[in-house]
Amino acid sequence: MADVAVVGSGPNGLAAAVVMARAGLMVRVYEAASTIGGGTRTAELLEPGHLYDVCSAVHPMALASRFFRDFELERRVELSLPEVQYGTPLDGGRSALAYRSLEQTAAELGPDGAAFSRLMGPLVERLEGILDVSQNQLLRIPADPFAALRLGLATLEQGSPWWNRRFKGEEAPALLTGVAAHTVSPLPSLAAAGAGLLLSALAHAGGWPIPVGGSVAIAEAMAKDIEAHGGIIETGVTIDSLDQLRPAKAILLDVAPPALVRIAGAALPDQYKRSLETFRFGNAACKVDFILSGPVPWAAPGLDRAGTVHVGGTRAAMAEAENLVAAGRHPKKPYVLAAQPSIVDPGRAPAGRHILWTYCHVPRGSNFDMAEAVISRIEEFAPGFRDVVVGWKTTTANDLADYNPNYRGGDFGAGRLDVRGLIQRPVISGVPWRTPLPGVYLCSSSTPPGPGVTGMPGYHAAKYALTDIFGLEVPELGLTPQPGGVGRG
Ligand SMILES: Cc1cc2nc3c(=O)[nH]c(=O)nc-3n(C[C@H](O)[C@H](O)[C@H](O)COP(=O)(O)OP(=O)(O)OC[C@H]3O[C@@H](n4cnc5c(N)ncnc54)[C@H](O)[C@@H]3O)c2cc1C
Repeated sequence: MADVAVVGSGPNGLAAAVVMARAGLMVRVYEAASTIGGGTRTAELLEPGHLYDVCSAVHPMALASRFFRDFELERRVELSLPEVQYGTPLDGGRSALAYRSLEQTAAELGPDGAAFSRLMGPLVERLEGILDVSQNQLLRIPADPFAALRLGLATLEQGSPWWNRRFKGEEAPALLTGVAAHTVSPLPSLAAAGAGLLLSALAHAGGWPIPVGGSVAIAEAMAKDIEAHGGIIETGVTIDSLDQLRPAKAILLDVAPPALVRIAGAALPDQYKRSLETFRFGNAACKVDFILSGPVPWAAPGLDRAGTVHVGGTRAAMAEAENLVAAGRHPKKPYVLAAQPSIVDPGRAPAGRHILWTYCHVPRGSNFDMAEAVISRIEEFAPGFRDVVVGWKTTTANDLADYNPNYRGGDFGAGRLDVRGLIQRPVISGVPWRTPLPGVYLCSSSTPPGPGVTGMPGYHAAKYALTDIFGLEVPELGLTPQPGGVGRG
């Protein structure tokens, strides 16, 4: 029987399993679906030979997360960097582009270049301090208080109605808001600004890579490591009760709070259970994956070289779309997040074809098919787009929820992303990964630092499980561990 049971093989479940297996413990991972990976699966969603990421596609944290750095993901998975990290089209054939070089990015932002540099420069310079804030839970003393202060001040500015105060034109604000809008929050807001500034800074550090072969390569690298260290991964097994996992000494659950209530049931203390039952979910995504007969015919230069394109027009237009979603409505002109994997990874589509991965935000629980709105929005900035569309597949918010129970109502953040939702994740606690049940830990993105393929919720949960139950420290996670390597906390 296993020392450690991990429920769910999303990136966080797998990260937790890597840490526990590397510590020399017998680990067994149980996954309800028929394949591993959770939000890091890749599949032929439309026609054979066209490989889509079912959920996550672009991985700024693959090079920045502490877990992935220690795990040396970069040496295990080929990460392809586009020439342009991300971009935003504007009317009149204009675009705003983010390059790895902050200088080049600023130089193309015209009159706002210097203001953009003054905002982003200090964050890029103190990136390690910013990452320390964003990879742990917020309620702690930061390792680099000056970096935390810079991030805090920039967040206050960009998350407030004064977010345009330093800018004259439309390009720089649209560039920033395209990233901030990832959070599915009202705009402007503090949570959106904070997350947006972090992701923007990462573009000017390691960049926003796309894994060759798809996001599943990340899951497979972790699975391979788990199995190489004696772990076992079982697919097609849904866990409904802790009894299925005993006598494992440590149980790590890559599930959302409602599933924790179902699995741990009556054993949970009333107050904790109530907090889980009232855990707030956010709004959702409607995904539209396309087969194209050629590249997207963007009117503006540079977007054909961008891994990610934020299609939503000006800052004000993106805010209007996102605020409609926050008010429970479906925008006619949505903010669309698009990735163009086949421009950096040609193997994703047969010769002469391209794939386009897109989603837009919708109210949670939506059954609405946003394909026509997404096509029209892209066509505005890429005239002739309809002519290159060969086919598409819509995944509504409710389809996403059916696909993965962690995405309640289609909320792929597994919990609302506002300031309260970042601090109370799922409860306010010094160690929110611990549950009140001895040996039972929550390791999903419903715990800090929240969503994204970071492995960090899994890493934190495993770190506490190792110390609490086995008296061990986090082992070496890299490709060539030193015999008797130094443990780290
Ligand atoms: C459309 C979309 C686009 C996204 N784009 C990006 C992106 O580009 N970049 C990025 O970094 N992030 C992106 N994300 C977010 C990212 O995918 C998630 O934040 C991440 O996958 C969360 O990881 P996790 O391990 O916490 O949970 P998940 O990845 O959700 O995995 C949870 C796993 O647990 C399994 N499970 C749940 N309950 C049980 C049970 N009772 N028994 C057994 N198994 C169970 C599920 O089947 C699932 O496989 C996107 C998500 C979506 C949906």
